[in-house]
Amino acid sequence: MFTRRMFFKILATVGGGSTFPAPGEAAAAQWLRGSAAFSTGHLAKSGDTYLEVPAQAFGGTTTEQWENLLDDLDAVELLGRYVSLKSAPDDVSRLTGRCPFCRHDVDSLLVDTRDDSYLCTDCLAGGHALDFHARMEGLSLPESLRSVGKLMAAGALQGKRPKLKRFHCIIEAIDRFAHESLICGRAGASARGWLNQEGVAAAVTEKISLGVMSYALGEQLLGRLRALGFTPDELEQAGVDGWMSCLGDRFKAGEFDSALLLPVRDRDGNCCGFYEQSLGPDAAFTWSSHVSPYGQQLLSPHRSNRLVYSAANGQKVPSSVVLVERPWDVVLLAQEGLHQAVYVSPLDLHEYHDRFNRFLLHVQRAVWPIYSSDLSVEFMRNLCRLSPHALERLAFLLLPEGVRFSEWLCREGSVVGQARLDDSLSATELLGL
Ligand SMILES: [Zn+2]
Repeated sequence: MFTRRMFFKILATVGGGSTFPAPGEAAAAQWLRGSAAFSTGHLAKSGDTYLEVPAQAFGGTTTEQWENLLDDLDAVELLGRYVSLKSAPDDVSRLTGRCPFCRHDVDSLLVDTRDDSYLCTDCLAGGHALDFHARMEGLSLPESLRSVGKLMAAGALQGKRPKLKRFHCIIEAIDRFAHESLICGRAGASARGWLNQEGVAAAVTEKISLGVMSYALGEQLLGRLRALGFTPDELEQAGVDGWMSCLGDRFKAGEFDSALLLPVRDRDGNCCGFYEQSLGPDAAFTWSSHVSPYGQQLLSPHRSNRLVYSAANGQKVPSSVVLVERPWDVVLLAQEGLHQAVYVSPLDLHEYHDRFNRFLLHVQRAVWPIYSSDLSVEFMRNLCRLSPHALERLAFLLLPEGVRFSEWLCREGSVVGQARLDDSLSATELLGL
């Protein structure tokens, strides 16, 4: 049976297990291209192809391309090439058909759309859709992966990509609505006042495409999205309904429900969701650390984990960055003229170790502003868990206790601030390596 563990084992075998674009990556890309039939010899549009283009060609790594392939693959479409499938009456996530391996009952084959797996209740054949493809075509698993990658790249299989595209369209529509509401709507007046107080100029608001959202605006938004032709199913799958009902709960509980929306885009420039910054009395401490709306079925955890919030707003993230505590700090620092600030996740190496590790491999240098009191043994232990390549890119700027980095930079001024950033303490020095 094809499992995630096996996936990484295969990647390790071919040299693509590391996200660091090392010489092994080129070898992996070569392996992935395989025979001449896979070598298309041209660079296709980012995000549209799998495996046949070297990883470096579109800034992703080989691992990411493989993750995209697994995320985009649709078991129903792939198995549907061999078997006629129909929906199970009692479960929308399952389909049934005649098993091609034993051909007993007409509906012994079950296909689960949630994890792209299959199982025959008669002969007990089962596994991932890629296993099914391998068995039907008489291929090994790596050959099956390559074969499906080729079908996806050629467009013979669409997979879940059309749904993902619709998801991005929904999020773009929300971005436009929220931005318009902030710039010119009556509902945005208090948010504009708050931005003024924070010293954020209209040009920054425009460049980062800030928006505003509240329970009342959410009601209007749902009407707008339906008018644009998005179906209730699409909105539900994109997580919009769940997001709006959270806003409703906050409103009904008498909590502050008005928030700024900070749109975050992936490396291809697609809008994927929003960080929220509360406009309420506890604004300094009330913000979301995860992107909303969370369309889990559409934006896979892999893609979601790669999101980085920066003032570049979908353009290339700078190669030298400053890690910040809150998404809102990115805006405040952009206002101060510092465009290298990025929010990757909460600054917690224990909980978000893998995410940081992956991110660090994409930049040349990352400075983490930190308090001496945070440098505990536990912190150092987690630091040591980063890969050596990630560790050598990381440096620390020691902040005066209790002062946020944005406040510190404001106080020191950008010239002194930049000099201190350049002079940060490398992680290897910190660890005494
Ligand atoms: Zn069977």
